[in-house]
Amino acid sequence: MAPQINDGTTASLPPVPSFQDQSQTQPSLDPPEAKGNQVDVPPCLLSPAFTPPSTPGTRTPGRSTEPATSSVSEQNAVVQPTLLEELPKVKCQVRARIPRNGGGEIFLHLYTNNIDNKEHLAIVFGDVIRSKSLDAPQENETEMVRMTRGAYTGRLYPGRTSSAALSPNQVVQPPENPIPLVRIHSECYTGETAWSARCDCGEQLDEAARLMTLEGNGVVVYLRQEGRGIGLAEKLKAYNLQDLGNDTVTANLLLRHPADARSYGLATAILQDLGLSMIRLLTNNPIKVAAVEGPNKEIKVAERVPMVPLAWKGLKGGVSGEEVDNYLKTKIHRMGHLLPDLGL
Ligand SMILES: [Zn+2]
Repeated sequence: MAPQINDGTTASLPPVPSFQDQSQTQPSLDPPEAKGNQVDVPPCLLSPAFTPPSTPGTRTPGRSTEPATSSVSEQNAVVQPTLLEELPKVKCQVRARIPRNGGGEIFLHLYTNNIDNKEHLAIVFGDVIRSKSLDAPQENETEMVRMTRGAYTGRLYPGRTSSAALSPNQVVQPPENPIPLVRIHSECYTGETAWSARCDCGEQLDEAARLMTLEGNGVVVYLRQEGRGIGLAEKLKAYNLQDLGNDTVTANLLLRHPADARSYGLATAILQDLGLSMIRLLTNNPIKVAAVEGPNKEIKVAERVPMVPLAWKGLKGGVSGEEVDNYLKTKIHRMGHLLPDLGL
């Protein structure tokens, strides 16, 4: 079937190959009815699963959790996170120094885990925060192997033979604030790489890096849960539904995804591996605070540090425009994010 557009006209779509047509095999996946300026979503565009099974920490719920068809645009999207009873197991496989454009450097930590096969990352600022799983000695490991996987102190330099000794003249300074800044950042290809002005993800990542550089300490946990956990393909479908007049929450619900499918157990486990038990969390999302603290309060959020868009502070360099304003407005009004409304 073709979608009903706002003005009631019917758009013609190119023929859909029969192997993509799930309407025969999934008769109960009726699309939501058109309401207001929403559009019907043809079953052939709905995912067979509620969210991609590979999305970290999420499961594919049964049909009973599908969104109601009649009030999608009014649903409150604030959902308390389901905390796993047990944290995932994570292991830092390798770490490397990355000199930053514009000065300074970070240590990029690559993690594997026991719940998905994605390469989640921790971007560590400063020399104080270290990974326990990376530093743990491995059986029959040579010093060269240790240094190659990044389990060294200080900096590498030509001719270095020991992973333990600091490089000449190097002293690790304790940070001024012993409670580090932490940002839990979910991958956003469009906002970070494709210059999208639909969201402020790239700006938030840059701002987190700026603040952590100033303090000389901090961690950005970079989770590979694109599109609030629904994956890039579904996110792009949601963008098209947004262009047809729906906000970000409604677009996800129309595709039978939760408004926000992300989970944070991996982030908690990574922070634990980095030896952090108390953090200052950079976020506007109150749900993230509870989620990151973990099922048994493995991590304590001592302070929530708000992330106010640069444009709202009258500063240059941030994302601005009607589309990002609508994106933020939906976060405030439908997802409970703690930002000053400023009349949006
Ligand atoms: Zn984004």
